[in-house]
Amino acid sequence: MTNIVVLIKQVPDYEDRHLTDGDWTLDRAGSDPVLDEINEKAVEVALQLKEKHADADYNVVVLTAGPSSAETAIRRALSMGADSAYHLVDDGLHGSDIVQTSWALARSLGQIEDVGVVIAGNETSDGVGGAVPAILAQFLGLPQLTAMRSIDIADGKVTGERETDDGVFGLEASLPAIVSISEKIVDDARFPSFKGIMAAKKKPVETLTLAGIGIEADEVGGAHAGSTVVSSTPKPPKSAGEKVTDEGEGGKQIADYLIAQKLL
Ligand SMILES: Cc1cc2nc3c(=O)[nH]c(=O)nc-3n(C[C@H](O)[C@H](O)[C@H](O)COP(=O)(O)OP(=O)(O)OC[C@H]3O[C@@H](n4cnc5c(N)ncnc54)[C@H](O)[C@@H]3O)c2cc1C
Repeated sequence: MTNIVVLIKQVPDYEDRHLTDGDWTLDRAGSDPVLDEINEKAVEVALQLKEKHADADYNVVVLTAGPSSAETAIRRALSMGADSAYHLVDDGLHGSDIVQTSWALARSLGQIEDVGVVIAGNETSDGVGGAVPAILAQFLGLPQLTAMRSIDIADGKVTGERETDDGVFGLEASLPAIVSISEKIVDDARFPSFKGIMAAKKKPVETLTLAGIGIEADEVGGAHAGSTVVSSTPKPPKSAGEKVTDEGEGGKQIADYLIAQKLL
């Protein structure tokens, strides 16, 4: 049995994000947490690979590092069809930066046997770092395929297409490998069925702790982070746009506006 591991992160609902006064960490208690949409898509991709290669005996495992409330995101992934989960939960992780988070995930992956491919989102919708998969690949010494809009697994390799502003590139890497996906990889993730939700309640979720994965207290956490948020300014509210009524000069008025904004 080969494990397809999906890295999932619980994020605050987009409409309802707040930062804690003082240290500018996320106020997790003050907003409704959800499984990040890009990670729902990553789970969908893993499930499609498992279904396509039913004879290969793949297992879909989700892994998250997050507070106990992240259990909700785990259950969502399990109710979509993932087989089991690992949850790294430890107060010592609070305030960890991207490098520390990646290190904790690298050590957590070490707890999972027979990892074939690790699928992550290209970036989260809250931290928007877009760096965890690459740092993870560096820590583990594994190849990484980035910004993939399609992937497949065959003959000990992961193959697929990466789309960037410069074009579409065919890529392959030997397994085990880290893959990060773009939004384009699937239109929508499947919605959990009632049967899936009931089944998820019985699926195994293994809790990991920092001590259990061999991470010392001074390797993670805000007090030991290499980078710190030193200030934060809320975005100004959107101002009302300028309305142009076309009375014969509308095109010119729009062109004048774009020139004034240095957009033309
Ligand atoms: C208010 C605030 C303050 C922050 N302060 C700092 C700071 O001081 N220094 C700093 O370096 N960073 C800081 N961060 C970033 C924060 O630490 C990150 O959320 C975390 O390190 C992961 O980075 P990311 O969310 O940007 O991940 P990305 O690199 O954008 O994630 C890409 C993919 O990696 C996987 N992934 C990411 N995180 C997890 C996870 N926890 N568990 C499982 N899979 C995961 C997912 O598949 C995800 O789609 C801050 C974020 C916020 C919102």
